[in-house]
Order: sequence, then structure tokens, then C-alpha cells
Amino acid sequence: RAKADGRGTYRFFETGMDARAQARRLLEMDMRAALQRDEFQPYYQPIRDVASGRVVAFEALLRWNHPQRGLIAPLSFIPLAEETGLIIQLGDFVLRSACTDAATWPDDVDVAVNLSPVQFRNPNLIASVTEALALSGLDARRLELEITESVLLQNSEATLTTLHELRAMGVRISLDDFGTGYSSLSYLRSFPFDKIKIDRSFVSELATREDSMAIIRAVTGLGRSLGIVTTAEGVENDGQLELLRREGCTQAQGYLFSKPRPASDVAIMLDRPPLRATA
Ligand code: C2E
Ligand code: MG
Ligand code: MG
Ligand code: MG
Repeated sequence: RAKADGRGTYRFFETGMDARAQARRLLEMDMRAALQRDEFQPYYQPIRDVASGRVVAFEALLRWNHPQRGLIAPLSFIPLAEETGLIIQLGDFVLRSACTDAATWPDDVDVAVNLSPVQFRNPNLIASVTEALALSGLDARRLELEITESVLLQNSEATLTTLHELRAMGVRISLDDFGTGYSSLSYLRSFPFDKIKIDRSFVSELATREDSMAIIRAVTGLGRSLGIVTTAEGVENDGQLELLRREGCTQAQGYLFSKPRPASDVAIMLDRPPLRATA
């Protein structure tokens, strides 16, 4: 389309590309420096057991505390970190921080860490996880690793071997954002996941769309039959929680309970009053 608009527009378009490439290079340099300057920080969001209301885990969600730009959310920098390979160092940092923080929490509170497909393809992943556990002293059974379906798209022997190796260490594996992308039930057959996280898009439409309700009902039912924990993401109000409870969804996570907050707020998040009594 740029060409049809004439030469001037085309040149302008090219200049725009240059500017974008330059902005990316700047962001990459900034990210590398930020790692050295300790500007990255995991935030934590509680995950509650629906039946008892107890906080059973926290998910680590990475934030960049930028000196000029303030707090930056992961979607603004993780894609570039994945492209440049910096996600490996960043991912190791999150793993180590999350395990170290979780080691100070009560024993019955787990920690969930998101893994990028790029980290997953890295042959050092098992060593990184082993090191994070060893340095922190955290029991492997308290660590959950969240992967998305894109990891399984490769569906290679190597992927399954890595998953089984992690499992053999005692680490649990969650399937994140279930229902988006290339969801396929055969994933649940190729690897025995410990947990399915139902994507927040289904939860947000729970009360207004019958098909979202039907999908949630199907996934929680599937989880029950297969012995897999189901966690609903993005629970924002009591109505949604009530419907999830009725469908027998195991766990819930969302702004209804808390936004992600720094590690220093974990004690406060644990002390929060339990959910209302079951109706
Ligand atoms: P995710 O793993 O699916 O994490 C859930 C996202 O939903 C988080 O966004 C969380 O803040 C947000 N959320 C939680 N409850 C609610 C709610 O009730 N309403 C709404 N509207 N949103 C809610 P966040 O922190 O911006 O992270 C976005 C994504 O970035 C994550 O999605 C994950 O895929 C990725 N990410 C975050 N931290 C890391 C990390 O350390 N490593 C990697 N590889 N990816 C990460
Ligand atoms: Mg996640
Ligand atoms: Mg998710
Ligand atoms: Mg999500």
C-alpha cells in the first residue's frame, strides 16, 4: 500500500521502519542495563482455593521498574526479550527470585513461574531450575511452571522429555491461557499436566455468554475426570466466583482478590479475610 501512495509516502514509511528498528535497539540496550541495575522485580498475585478460600499459591509476574518510565508491564518488553535471547537471563532471574521469595512463605503456599517457549527450548532449562531450587532451598513440590500451548506446538520428543524431567524433580506443570491459540485436547493426552489455567477471556464473559459458560463447564469437568486442577484466571467479581464455584472449578485468581503486588506485600495478601461462606 505504501508504494501505491507514491514515492514520498514510501520513503516516509521506510524512515518509520528505521525509527522502529532503532527504538527496538534502544529498548534492548536499556533492558540489558536494567538487568545489571536490578530494575526487574517479580510481583505476586494470589491464587485461592475456591472451596476453602485459602491462598494456595502466588504467581510471579515480572515488572520492570524503569527509572524514567515507571513500572512497565511484561507485554511491553518480553516479546523483544524473547527475540533477542535476553529472556534466558531474565527468566533465570525470575526463577531464582521467585524460589528465594517462596522459601520465606508458609510451607503450604506454592509459587508459579511463567516460562517462555524460548526458555523451554534452551538446553540449560533443567540446570536453571535445579540451581534456583538449590540456591533457595525451596522444595521442588512447591514450584509450578506455567507453559502455554505454543510450547507443545513443537510437540517434539525433546519437549516431552524436558517436561518429564521437570516432573521427575517434583516440579508441577501448568497449561496457561487454556482455550486461546491452538488448544487441542491431544495435548492433555501427550503430557499429564498438573493444572489447567482457563484463560481470562472465558471468565470475563461468564455471565453474559452461554458459550463461555459451556466451555468453562467442559474444562472443569475434563479436569475432574483427568485429575487435573483447574484454575480460572481474571476473576474480577463475586458473580463470576459463584458460577465457578458451582461448576467445581478448583482455584481462582484475579483482581477480585488482589492485583499483583511486590514480594513485601505477600504477608498482607495472605492475611486477607477468607472468601464468603459457600452459599
Ligand atoms: P499470564 O501468565 O496469563 O498472567 C496473567 C495476567 O493477567 C497478568 O498480566 C495479570 O496481572 C493479569 N490479571 C490477573 N488477574 C486479572 C484480572 O482480574 N483482570 C485482568 N484484566 N487481568 C488480570 P501481566 O502481569 O501483565 O502479565 C502478562 C503476561 O506476561 C503473563 O500472562 C505472562 O504470559 C507474561 N509474563 C509475566 N511475567 C512473566 C515472566 O516472568 N516470564 C515470562 N516468560 N512471561 C511472563
Ligand atoms: Mg501465567
Ligand atoms: Mg495465564
Ligand atoms: Mg493470560
